[in-house]
Amino acid sequence: MKRYDVIVLGLGAMGSAALFHLAKRGARVLGVDPYPLGHDHGSSHGETRVIRLAYFEHESYVPLLRRAYQLWSELEAESGATLYHPCGVLQVGPADGEIIPGLDRAAQHHGLPLLSLSRAEVARRFPGFGVPSGHEVRLEEQAGILRVEAAVRAHGQRAEAHGAELRLGHFASQLAFTDDGVRLLVGDEVVQAQRLVLTAGPWAPALLADLGVPLQILRKASVWVQPQQPHYGLHQGAPAFLYETPDGVYYGLPAVSERGMKIAEHSGGAVLTAPLPPSGPERGAPTAEEEARPLAFAARHLPGLGDRVGHRALCMYTMTPDQHFLIDRHPTHAPLIFAAGFSGHGFKFAPVIGEALAELTLDGGTRQPIGFLGLSRFTRST
Ligand SMILES: Cc1cc2nc3c(=O)[nH]c(=O)nc-3n(C[C@H](O)[C@H](O)[C@H](O)COP(=O)(O)OP(=O)(O)OC[C@H]3O[C@@H](n4cnc5c(N)ncnc54)[C@H](O)[C@@H]3O)c2cc1C
Repeated sequence: MKRYDVIVLGLGAMGSAALFHLAKRGARVLGVDPYPLGHDHGSSHGETRVIRLAYFEHESYVPLLRRAYQLWSELEAESGATLYHPCGVLQVGPADGEIIPGLDRAAQHHGLPLLSLSRAEVARRFPGFGVPSGHEVRLEEQAGILRVEAAVRAHGQRAEAHGAELRLGHFASQLAFTDDGVRLLVGDEVVQAQRLVLTAGPWAPALLADLGVPLQILRKASVWVQPQQPHYGLHQGAPAFLYETPDGVYYGLPAVSERGMKIAEHSGGAVLTAPLPPSGPERGAPTAEEEARPLAFAARHLPGLGDRVGHRALCMYTMTPDQHFLIDRHPTHAPLIFAAGFSGHGFKFAPVIGEALAELTLDGGTRQPIGFLGLSRFTRST
């Protein structure tokens, strides 16, 4: 029976990053996933992800983001891959909504540069973007986009280069806690380790059901629209964007391929009782309604984009009750450390979460300020 210091179960965004940081620190580590690195069956696919520093969701994320920016840049240097494009992020919403006040709070609290633009300034700088009257606009120029599949592969491959073993093609199953760690079945092989890092994305709700935290899986559709005018490509200076509108919160990322500009609704989404199957008719494709909503958003706010759909995809969010991440040690099984419930905004943090997981696993604690993401906020009796 093979024995490791640590096994990482799930090599999507968070697991590949954890594997990398564990291997870089010299741990004898095994990473397990049923699918290849950078696959499109979970939550980490679809070309691009937004990264931004002025974090309207909660200002406590900002120190983690500063470290994430640093680590993304180190990963680019180490892997030779270009993962980050600083295209800026345009954020639009009512002055009394969730996004604009949250942005202003985070920027003020942490002294972050954030530009307020008038509608006329937006029209001049970004001619493809309309702003509803009465809405405020903030531009974070240092924000940008990340290459999602390339980033997962870079973490996985660099982990391997630092000595990690990867076992792809098998679900890990039959988890058992032993006197000195954990035991798992991977394919037809039993493997053991002192610690287990569980980073199973939308598969985590079933694996962590005993925590008693209701993690909910949401089905999310994205559409790519091939622009009819030249204002929507990364190389034409288009920003990523986030709009809070009366019909929901929508976001988009500039075109990085012939697929076009990616647009999706951040709000809403059908609740799933289990992760979508990887392919076939049961996975299906975005429904007409799921596709119509981002297209209607584009027709209202991106006047030169058009409606020629170049690609479509399904993905999943794993939501916690308060939409903040869940990262902790299991309360009764000490060898188990988990990171789950990234609630549709986790990707940008992947390297700092990976670093924190490696520290929790190897040092028993972490320098990263993740206390606000712990389990006790759901289990504390009031
Ligand atoms: C459409 C969409 C857009 C998004 N946009 C943004 C954005 O712009 N910015 C941002 O920061 N975040 C964004 N997010 C959120 C972000 O992508 C996710 O929070 C993040 O990718 C989650 O990573 P994960 O590692 O938790 O899950 P995943 O990447 O899904 O990884 C889980 C892994 O576990 C594996 N696994 C499952 N079961 C087992 C098992 N039994 N044994 C072994 N392996 C197993 C799976 O195969 C999978 O590889 C978006 C998400 C979606 C869906």
